[in-house]
Amino acid sequence: MAITSFNPPKRTLLGPGPSDVPQRVLDAMARPTIGHLDPQFVIMMDEVKELLRYLFQTKNDITMAVSGPGMAGMEMCVVNLVEPGDKVIVCRNGVFGGRMISNVERCGGTAIVIDDEWGKPADLQKVEEAFKVHPDAKVLGFVHAETSTGVRSDAEALVKLAHQYGALTIVDAVTSLGGIPVLVDEWGIDAIYSGSQKCLSCTPGLSPVSFGPRAVEAIKNRKTQVQSWFLDLTLVMDYWGSGAKRAYHHTAPINSLYGLHESLVMIQEEGIENSWKRHHENHLKLKDALEPLGLNFFVDEAYRLPQLNAMVIPEGVNDGQVRSRLLQDYSLEIGGGLGPGAGKLWRIGLMGHSSRQENIDLVSKALQEVLSDIKVG
Ligand SMILES: *Cc1c(COP(=O)(O)O)cnc(C)c1O
Repeated sequence: MAITSFNPPKRTLLGPGPSDVPQRVLDAMARPTIGHLDPQFVIMMDEVKELLRYLFQTKNDITMAVSGPGMAGMEMCVVNLVEPGDKVIVCRNGVFGGRMISNVERCGGTAIVIDDEWGKPADLQKVEEAFKVHPDAKVLGFVHAETSTGVRSDAEALVKLAHQYGALTIVDAVTSLGGIPVLVDEWGIDAIYSGSQKCLSCTPGLSPVSFGPRAVEAIKNRKTQVQSWFLDLTLVMDYWGSGAKRAYHHTAPINSLYGLHESLVMIQEEGIENSWKRHHENHLKLKDALEPLGLNFFVDEAYRLPQLNAMVIPEGVNDGQVRSRLLQDYSLEIGGGLGPGAGKLWRIGLMGHSSRQENIDLVSKALQEVLSDIKVG
């Protein structure tokens, strides 16, 4: 049997990412591939850096897109800032904080873990106590928007606290960037990473990162070599850096970068503040549509993420059954729970291009019909 071309079904993506990719971005990715050292491509890379600075609200020179998914961005931040023997305080209130711990340990660092209940933000008081016990901690790492639970932690306050104790900060902004304010310079974030497929509405596989002056200084003062060749910032910057001499490091995913460029242009056209506002307003509309169906939020209103709505699955309702009906009958994807949330939560993403009225209408109608069917049947 001859295998023929793959034609994916048309879906509406309202899960924890990827989100819907606008046709305009897909069209950009279908443009002709040119050489990655072509002067025209170099200009485009510079524009991506400029657009990312706008998105991160930073003047950091070292701002670019790592060739790899969000996890590559996390790893780039950790491998460059953590050396064997370094102490790193890591907040864990969901899946992604756990991964940061693993990254720290693989670099030979000691992770001082601050655990918080899933569904709650990182606790400032506990972090402060950890700094009192470990005043020599070099870095504080935390997840701004925990996609596994739908919780926003107070990034500004956490960064401020870390700086009071002379520590650097690594911030996971994979889900937050573009959906809620992420003010890198105003908050003083030292190292931050994100992902292309959540609120930026690009395809997966690129990780925007930015490093501030204190992080750059710490990297310059390293005693040991970065253990990852591919993610060593100093080497990568010879490729992405300004000065345009562009030494070959690896071959950038050229067409993916066309896509990221286009999605960033779209955010620039909308205006970043308008994007935050749209995510917030659509979250409130979703709340108004879902609560009458007996669906309640898992997270307290004070720290809910507008772009990732974690809903408690009603008693007696079969998670898998509902989600497969949504996929089959409505071609609609929502997320299930992760870890302790498996079978207990639905994660409804209204990220980037997916955050639209028609999608709120679709998911609320579909859930209403499927849930009432199940109750009757
Ligand atoms: C999705 C996500 C990641 C990982 O991104 P990938 O692109 O899947 O590697 C990391 N952190 C958070 C908070 C995420 O939501």
